[in-house]
Amino acid sequence: MEFSSKLLERAVNEISQLPGIGKRTALRLALHLLRQPKEQAAFLTEALISMRNDIKSCRECHNISDHDICEICSDSRRNRSIICVVEDIRDVMAIENTGQFRGLYHVLGGKISPVDGIGPSQLNVTTLVEKVRGGNVQELIFALSPTMEGDTTNFYIYRQIKDFEIVTSTIARGIAVGDELEYADEVTLGRSILQRVPFENSLKNN
Ligand SMILES: [Zn+2]
Repeated sequence: MEFSSKLLERAVNEISQLPGIGKRTALRLALHLLRQPKEQAAFLTEALISMRNDIKSCRECHNISDHDICEICSDSRRNRSIICVVEDIRDVMAIENTGQFRGLYHVLGGKISPVDGIGPSQLNVTTLVEKVRGGNVQELIFALSPTMEGDTTNFYIYRQIKDFEIVTSTIARGIAVGDELEYADEVTLGRSILQRVPFENSLKNN
């Protein structure tokens, strides 16, 4: 790509470093910014710089936060005895969006994956075990992806906390709402049979 301006070229190169953004899209975004009032570009760069410099990781749950303790952990209306263990902050957002969970979270920051060189020591496991050891936790919900790495991570954590008197559960894995049974893969369908629920429970959810 030939540029008549080094300044434009530099901006396009930087924007195209973002995932999913190719050079052509980067050029379109850069030209869009050039057509906007100067303040618009200033708002954008200021928002990015502040986010990068000032965002914190919650001391309690490792979720991203503007303060040392995130809004979820500091909300006194949440049930502090149930902790939902997730891989990533995006999972916190997804579960929060359902409006169905009123406990707290613990963000591991990934899952055990020897292929990618990620072992338990790179994840926030120790702080989770300490929380359980503290005695205020009654239930741990494993909400990791239903993959081999997710299962390995669940089991690793389970082994660390199984001697404490708490309930451990995993999120149900089954047929997506609105899916035709014949199109579900056999692993999903098999788990749905094994993890069947009393019919009365399905009525409550409707
Ligand atoms: Zn938190």
